[in-house]
Amino acid sequence: MSEIDPTGKPAPGPNTRLAHGGNRPSDYHGFVNPPVVRASTILFPDSAALKGRSQRYTYGLSGTPTTEALEAALSELEGAAGTILVPSGLAAVTVPLLAFLSAGDHLLMVDCIYGPTRRFANTVLKRLGVEVEYFDPKRAEGIADLIRAETKVVFLEAPGSNTFEMLDIGAAARAARAANAVTMIDNTWATPLHFRPLDHGVDISIHALTKYPSGHSDVLMGSVSANEATYRRLRDTQLTLGINAAPDDVYLVLRGLRSMGVRLDRHAETAMRLAEWLEGHEAVARVLHPALPSFDGHDLWKRQFAGASGLFSIVLRQPHGDPAPFVDALELFGIGWSWGGFESLAVPVDLSDRTLALAPDEGPVVRLQIGLEDFTDLRTDLERGLAALAARQNKNG
Ligand SMILES: *Cc1c(COP(=O)(O)O)cnc(C)c1O
Repeated sequence: MSEIDPTGKPAPGPNTRLAHGGNRPSDYHGFVNPPVVRASTILFPDSAALKGRSQRYTYGLSGTPTTEALEAALSELEGAAGTILVPSGLAAVTVPLLAFLSAGDHLLMVDCIYGPTRRFANTVLKRLGVEVEYFDPKRAEGIADLIRAETKVVFLEAPGSNTFEMLDIGAAARAARAANAVTMIDNTWATPLHFRPLDHGVDISIHALTKYPSGHSDVLMGSVSANEATYRRLRDTQLTLGINAAPDDVYLVLRGLRSMGVRLDRHAETAMRLAEWLEGHEAVARVLHPALPSFDGHDLWKRQFAGASGLFSIVLRQPHGDPAPFVDALELFGIGWSWGGFESLAVPVDLSDRTLALAPDEGPVVRLQIGLEDFTDLRTDLERGLAALAARQNKNG
């Protein structure tokens, strides 16, 4: 990124931003990290100050120096006008949708969306009178044809949830902006290190901070970073709904963020080596990883993203088969939801809610979160799982 600030200083690199973003040691007697400031009540010097609304901090719900530090760090990483924090990644999806949609509006959403996002759209948003329409990720350049006068939001996720479909994000955002619709993207997989949506014309970038930014599987949080045009309405909606993240949790995420760059490099490198190895394994029909040249959306990924992370899926060569023998034979890979932590995980993926970006027909899909363990140990574990699968298949004839 060749940003130059008005004083002619080159912008700091991503790891420098991670190390220093949001920290102002001189505000806190030189302590490197901001304090955990917990608050409901904040006192005013007199009643005039209470009425004047000029005091920087007014009530715990609207933020403390701790929440502000993480917001500032994320805004800098995303190139955003402002960032709000919410108690989960899912809330980081629902709050902006509630902020920009009303009864009678039309929402265009990519079909390879995170399952709970689809559930929210199909239940709460529909009940509130929003019309929800899904589009094929392969048709992102053509969404202008689907946009109508009532289309207020275009919601993207790239790569797609569990199956990693890539889409032309810039083209979708341009079509949305031409029609005055707000473009939002769930940017969790890439992190702001590998993709900065606002540089591509997207208005709002969403993260489950639960994943790589926290990195240790011990905290839930979400963030929404917005451009100048959308930030005020987003912040007002957050305060109106009464949702903010707790300062103790914020501190944990801020702590994780400092080391995210080196962790992500390691996650990505081991994941890529395993993906390449799995691609050559006879029990694997396909590896769904955008950084593999064989992957369908590889060119779109390469053109738009600066890197990959450590989450991908494999399609087992086993039509109508059961992935359980593979997953159950794994000893290092845990079976569990979420990802982005230090430990490896494997989960069979349910794609039955898809309407356009359908499940592969070669066999079941298993999602792998590659942790920080050693490559050889993880490969041995996967080998064990695939051998168990082959043994079961031979037994069943
Ligand atoms: C995990 C995840 C979320 C939700 O995050 P939580 O903190 O678990 O609520 C949202 N979007 C994507 C893409 C995710 O992977």
